[in-house]
Amino acid sequence: MELYKLTAQQIQKLLRSRQVSCLEVTKSVIARIEETEPNIHAYIATTFEQAMEQAIRVDEKILRGEELPPLAGIPVAIKDNICTKSIPTTCASKIINGFKPAYDATVIERLKKANMVIIGKTNMDEFAMGSSTENSAFGPTHNPWDLQRAPGGSSGGSAAVVASCEATLAIGSDTGGSIRQPASFCGVVGMKPTYGLISRYGLIAFASSLDQIGPLSKDVRDCALLLNVLAGYDPKDSTSINIDLPDYTKFLTTDIAGMKIGIPKEYFCEGLDPGVEKRIQESIAVFSGLGAECVDISLPHTKYAIAVYYILATSEASSNLARYDGVQYGYRAEEAENLLDMYRLTRSNGFGAEVKRRIMLGTYALSSGYYDAYYLQAQRVRTLIKNDFEEGFKKCDIILTPTSPTVAFKLGEKIDDPLKMYISDIFTISANLAGIPGISVPCGLSDGLPVGLQLLGPVFGEGKILQAAYSYEVGTDLCVCPIA
Ligand code: GLN
Repeated sequence: MELYKLTAQQIQKLLRSRQVSCLEVTKSVIARIEETEPNIHAYIATTFEQAMEQAIRVDEKILRGEELPPLAGIPVAIKDNICTKSIPTTCASKIINGFKPAYDATVIERLKKANMVIIGKTNMDEFAMGSSTENSAFGPTHNPWDLQRAPGGSSGGSAAVVASCEATLAIGSDTGGSIRQPASFCGVVGMKPTYGLISRYGLIAFASSLDQIGPLSKDVRDCALLLNVLAGYDPKDSTSINIDLPDYTKFLTTDIAGMKIGIPKEYFCEGLDPGVEKRIQESIAVFSGLGAECVDISLPHTKYAIAVYYILATSEASSNLARYDGVQYGYRAEEAENLLDMYRLTRSNGFGAEVKRRIMLGTYALSSGYYDAYYLQAQRVRTLIKNDFEEGFKKCDIILTPTSPTVAFKLGEKIDDPLKMYISDIFTISANLAGIPGISVPCGLSDGLPVGLQLLGPVFGEGKILQAAYSYEVGTDLCVCPIA
């Protein structure tokens, strides 16, 4: 049996019934990585030794008959902007190359407490800025469906490892679509939860009012299981919300009769690939067939989302990235003659082109004389976008859209044209601006490449979107693990 191909839930059953050991599962995934990684390049670092030690510990606990959490023993991959104690965390940037965090991010503590097996750190766009992983200082990741194509980004490595079965589960971060868009491009499930649901303590900040950590998985049940592990109040993150959380697997029922699904007309616009639109229209028909009621809605300020996002995200990034000055962490330019020169050279050589572009854009938007016209105005329009969703959710329970206007594009196709690259986030960004949850689930192929369906819910509506996604998944025949 090829254990690496299985979902977490399938592995869990085999472990419980002692048909396989956790060490066998881990070794199977490691062998898969060794076979596949030369083509995919989805990992920046692997942690096989620790993974095998952890697997042995889990096996010992199983043998002792200890009660274990549901995802105990499941191999999980971590986006490399999440701090892992004593394991290098690079953010795919030269500027913090060599940085070994002194502590684990809260989500890592939670994965460890759940007895999960951390298998490696995944590739990404530098500081999570990008939509293709081509902005990584370590070179791009290749889409497992077509090695000439991008896996999406910025969590492209995390989506690719799940799609190519180089990990059973993965975690990523999503500031403007970085979990959902790569999930869509790689044919896997990916969720950005409500802002504040999952602690960001130990997530290297890009744009703090937008960043969220979330799960990537082969199916919707695994997504709910991993969300159960990740979600929860953390006093170390001031944006973390202290509420009672449900067991998200309780929402995995197929009864969606009467559920109202809003279809926003602004998301079926120019630029939407006809092949993608066809799959989305078919999925709307599937939902109607399952008894849901699909209603037309309008989110009128959608057209401003990209402009608002690229002002706010870059402004926050320019402030967050000010700390990389060659003094405290990572890379320092050697050839400098004085302190100012050292700062300048370190930042000029240490950051890649896209990160520098964003720091400059953000610094400009925040500078005196421009602040009101750009930053403040963008904040106002952000409120209008948030209000659009509040109005929209008065008419429906969840909202259905494409995740991305296209299927995976070719590596090199957009990298020289930032605007083209930015437009690929058109359908995912608004959820971050509004702080609401969104999930991308595979909904078939166009030209042999996966298409993602996005379901958006109101604040703390994770249960509803999981329920709809699960019903859809059960009601259709989805493709995962393309090269397995
Ligand atoms: N692609 C978007 C950007 O480049 C979103 C990135 C993200 O969600 N981290 O900003």
